[in-house]
Amino acid sequence: MLIDAFSRRFTYLRLSITESCNFRCSYCLPNGTDCESRSGELNLVEIRRLVTAFARLGTKKVRITGGEPALRKDLTEIIATCKSVPGIEKVAITTNGYRLARDAQAWFDAGLDAVNVSIDSLDADTFHLVTGQDKLAEILAGVAKARAVGIKQVKINTVLLRQHNALALPDFLDFIKSQDISLRFIELMRTNDNTQYYKNQHLSGESIQQKLLATGWQLKAKSSTDGPALEYYHGDYQGRIGLIMPYSNDFCADCNRLRVSSQAGLYLCLFTEQQQDLRQLLQNDDVLPLMQFLQQAVLGKEATHYLHQDFSGGTRHLAQIGG
Ligand code: SAM
Repeated sequence: MLIDAFSRRFTYLRLSITESCNFRCSYCLPNGTDCESRSGELNLVEIRRLVTAFARLGTKKVRITGGEPALRKDLTEIIATCKSVPGIEKVAITTNGYRLARDAQAWFDAGLDAVNVSIDSLDADTFHLVTGQDKLAEILAGVAKARAVGIKQVKINTVLLRQHNALALPDFLDFIKSQDISLRFIELMRTNDNTQYYKNQHLSGESIQQKLLATGWQLKAKSSTDGPALEYYHGDYQGRIGLIMPYSNDFCADCNRLRVSSQAGLYLCLFTEQQQDLRQLLQNDDVLPLMQFLQQAVLGKEATHYLHQDFSGGTRHLAQIGG
């Protein structure tokens, strides 16, 4: 098992497969991708070995992320590879959705269980302003396609932004009223590249939490591979509302996630200063040395991130490691 010094068990791997992204989200890559070269991205053989080692140590869920994972031409094969590893019960992807309408069927056929699509506004102009892409209708068509082909879980990620969506809760609630979709508000996190933007736009999720509780929404129980969202349900709505509040107390107490970057770096936390290079260990078909390395490495995981103290480690933006 992968258990750290604070008795936390890690059953969830977030695997970034590229740093590159084609969107220009104002809080992440406002000037477009800064990934100069795609060389060195984990290949299919390395991914199979990596996921096998994690699975033998108790990992049950893999989330493929980036950058934008759909920029990888072999994404369908990557999904199939992760899903074929014994012990992996769930394969998920986080995407901006630009290939969803086209590829949802192929991803589903390859074994994709869950997709998170990033949509920060349901207003087309605001979406364009925040992401640099005039594609809201296309992305929503992709969400509908993902549901139609039978992907079990379709979720929407919405970063809470003071200027752009703070007053839009009623629109989001309308959207999930008759659709079985979980829409999760994520508090904007400070990274090294967005300090001023963070100061202007950060909004706590607490006000939304209070509005939900005051109008009959109830907290859902979590399972061991669930991510960090607190999820709320309501009898009048088919969908659910999630809140991801990394600035809340105890956010890290039940952390169950480890991260590997597209360049084979092990990150024990999204906001760590150090990464550990797994490349050499991934060149060997025998995954035992990699398993031993991971078991040792995880003991060095800190109790918490230090975002509260304005410390965001070595993370320039989330595309670098995968949000
Ligand atoms: N390209 C994919 C996408 O757009 O979903 C995957 C990578 S993106 C880095 C993953 C998620 O992180 C997205 O939902 C994005 O909105 C979120 N994100 C990026 N930077 C963030 C920040 N500073 N604070 C909170 N969420 C952030």
